[in-house]
Amino acid sequence: MSNVIIIGGGAAGMMAAIGAATCGHEVHIFEKNEKLGKKIYITGKGRCNVTNASDMDVLLKNIVTNPKFMYSALYTLSNDTVIQMFNEDMNVPIKIERGNRAFPVSDKSSDIIMGLTRRLRELGVNIHLGEEVKDIITENVTDDTQGKKRVSGIKLKDGEIIKCDSVIIATGGYSYQTTGSNGDGYRFAKNTGHNVTDILPALVPLNAKEEYIKDLQGLSLKNVEVSFVCKNKKIYSEFGEMLFTHFGVSGPIILSGSSYVSKYIKRGEQISINIDLKPALSESELDDRILRDFAEVINKDFANSLNKLLPTKMIPIIIALSGIEPHKKVNEITKEERLGLVRLIKQFTVNVASTRSFNEAIITQGGVSVKDVNPGTMESKHIDNLYFAGEVLDVDALTGGYNLQIAWSTGYLAGISVKS
Ligand SMILES: Cc1cc2nc3c(=O)[nH]c(=O)nc-3n(C[C@H](O)[C@H](O)[C@H](O)COP(=O)(O)OP(=O)(O)OC[C@H]3O[C@@H](n4cnc5c(N)ncnc54)[C@H](O)[C@@H]3O)c2cc1C
Repeated sequence: MSNVIIIGGGAAGMMAAIGAATCGHEVHIFEKNEKLGKKIYITGKGRCNVTNASDMDVLLKNIVTNPKFMYSALYTLSNDTVIQMFNEDMNVPIKIERGNRAFPVSDKSSDIIMGLTRRLRELGVNIHLGEEVKDIITENVTDDTQGKKRVSGIKLKDGEIIKCDSVIIATGGYSYQTTGSNGDGYRFAKNTGHNVTDILPALVPLNAKEEYIKDLQGLSLKNVEVSFVCKNKKIYSEFGEMLFTHFGVSGPIILSGSSYVSKYIKRGEQISINIDLKPALSESELDDRILRDFAEVINKDFANSLNKLLPTKMIPIIIALSGIEPHKKVNEITKEERLGLVRLIKQFTVNVASTRSFNEAIITQGGVSVKDVNPGTMESKHIDNLYFAGEVLDVDALTGGYNLQIAWSTGYLAGISVKS
């Protein structure tokens, strides 16, 4: 049996504690907040999309960064086992919704936190709340000639040093910092010789360059297809729902796309979002449709001809961008003008100015380099008995319960890998 300190009482830290305590270790969680799981509380709009019940290949496809690193962790604690744990060990019944998203039946994230806390107490985990860890203490491995180090304890904010045999860093990322995740884990990792890749906001809304996007504020588009393009190369495309805001664009398919383009934006490369407002119609089908609409209003102004085709808020902008004189009679519009209109509707372009800040990012991309961590144990390759779990690692996924699954799986694997 060994004495394990877990830094961070979020999803990864709590699951790490369950893993380590189940193996018979003495476990201590140090959490700087006054309660556990502050971020879990706000997940899934307060309902907590606790995991995703899809097959493993779908899980892996939804991991944007370093999916291969996740193989062992996901096979050690799968999504099915997470659901079973909540149902059986924690008495929190789980239901499956559209897209295999798993939620507590009660629709309350607080029930997930309560279930975890109960289980931690049952397993005799020591929970230290309001305790901020300032540093990790290491020492030379005495019988090693290579100068290898091992972890020997932590230093608290008040200077107190607490000795232990192993440490699991589960401090989260850098987004929604009011929940406690303010990047401390990256500092601990760097100070102990680990590489930390650039961190970026992901699953994040995007600021638009075009001033007129403000006029579309509040408009939600349901069945559109967006393509994220950089230097004429399509980076990502998806069909679904998006939203215009006072600063730019948001909504499910924009958030997903942001995870693929955040690094390009950081490098200063121009990203354009091409929105196909009528993805169900080919260009010629859309042209036919417009011709039919025009036939019904043949003597009206162009400005009054698009009501059946487009949302009201969109019409003045499409008219302005089309270059067609708004008071031109519909029957005077040329074929070229009409085909230009078709292209505009099939490819309404928003140029991205920047991402919104970390405080609006559901997830942090980047973190402790997976090259420095053993994927079969989550142990550091540089410091013996030091482990990493959760969002602090350079692994991130799309929305749908995948990010919490990463936290549960890496946390549990780190916990059960602690050496006796
Ligand atoms: C608004 C929002 C909604 C989300 N919804 C979902 C969802 O429905 N489904 C999903 O799968 N994912 C969701 N996510 C992502 C998911 O919440 C995170 O990926 C997950 O919580 C990461 O878990 P973690 O344990 O690694 O980090 P965290 O949950 O951030 O926990 C880290 C903990 O470490 C503590 N800590 C940090 N530094 C120190 C220190 N120095 N000393 C002591 N303690 C410290 C922090 O206070 C914190 O409690 C959402 C995220 C946000 C922001």
